[in-house]
Amino acid sequence: MQKLKLSVIPGDGIGQEVVPETLKVLDTLAEINGGVKFEYETHPWSCEYYLEHGVMMPKDGMARLHQTDAIYLGAVGNPKLVPDHVSLWGLLIKIRRECEQVINIRPAQYINGVNSPLANPNDFDFIVVRENSEGEYSEVGGRIHSGDDEIAIQNAVFTRKATERTIRYAFELAQRRSGQVTSATKSNGIVHSMPFWDQVFQEVGKDYPSIQTESNHIDALCAFFVSKPHQFDVIVASNLFGDILTDLGAAVMGSIGIAPAANININGKYPSMFEPVHGSAPDIIGRGIANPIGQLWTAKMMLDHLGLDELGSLLMKAIKETIGEGIKTRDLGGTSYTNEVIDHIITKLTAYS
Ligand code: ATP
Ligand code: MG
Repeated sequence: MQKLKLSVIPGDGIGQEVVPETLKVLDTLAEINGGVKFEYETHPWSCEYYLEHGVMMPKDGMARLHQTDAIYLGAVGNPKLVPDHVSLWGLLIKIRRECEQVINIRPAQYINGVNSPLANPNDFDFIVVRENSEGEYSEVGGRIHSGDDEIAIQNAVFTRKATERTIRYAFELAQRRSGQVTSATKSNGIVHSMPFWDQVFQEVGKDYPSIQTESNHIDALCAFFVSKPHQFDVIVASNLFGDILTDLGAAVMGSIGIAPAANININGKYPSMFEPVHGSAPDIIGRGIANPIGQLWTAKMMLDHLGLDELGSLLMKAIKETIGEGIKTRDLGGTSYTNEVIDHIITKLTAYS
């Protein structure tokens, strides 16, 4: 029996509602598989925890996370209790940094039954790989002079190491998918970092002769996400460009309530973290109407990452069929409650086995 230890952090708001429900689905999958068992170490780290303890997580918290195979997180933040910069930097960003989760990945797929804002969504299914540690979001720069002469300078930092590992990750991923990588660039306007990015993209690409490559300027790429999203497979982007593209990906899918994300530690030294794109959704807490699909799809990404791809595919099949049958929460135009969606998915999974 393979035992997998998961750090579970439900966090704030609807994270506390959807995470426990989705663990039931994970348990069902483990039962179906028969050869794997999930052990949960659940942590109450949240804004409520902060009010009681003055910190978002205890001193030995990080060490405890490091001893597990993956981190499964709900949502962090409740600005009514704790300012966002305190809760995010004290937990989410701290984990991303200290577990060296240098790459962020987010898939976007057309799912039958979800109302995409696109007139003709076709069958798009792409995944954005975002550099998650440097780039445009650097602390290098500052402000000089004042008044009419004031100048703000923001430097972007692109190291060969981080650029290369991100691009290589995208190529590796493309090898397991349909074999195409698109790079987001802007070398016609950004004259140092982006030509460098393009150069590394070409160099790494030489190691993957069977993968089809393309470079698109970020402005055109944003338009293509709307006009022809089905033409993309893996898209690799810098920190800022990836940030923009991943939100756009969630938007063309049709609902923030279904979008998943993963923060990947690529050297296997520390665990990766799996969290849905949505936040704590304070406006719908306590009503049982939170959409659990974003969290569940996140669980699917975690299963894939842990080498349990078959269980991941089974889960995705159940998710798609459930939405297709109209068992969906209000944000998707349905009337079902969180637990009804979960129960339906569990029934399906049990019937498959
Ligand atoms: P954050 O700052 O953490 O991103 P936010 O308030 O900006 O929080 P969300 O918490 O994602 O963003 O909420 C944005 C909107 O989407 C809210 O109206 C919320 O109710 C809705 N929403 C988000 N997630 C879900 C979900 N899982 N199910 C239903 N509605 C959701
Ligand atoms: Mg937000």
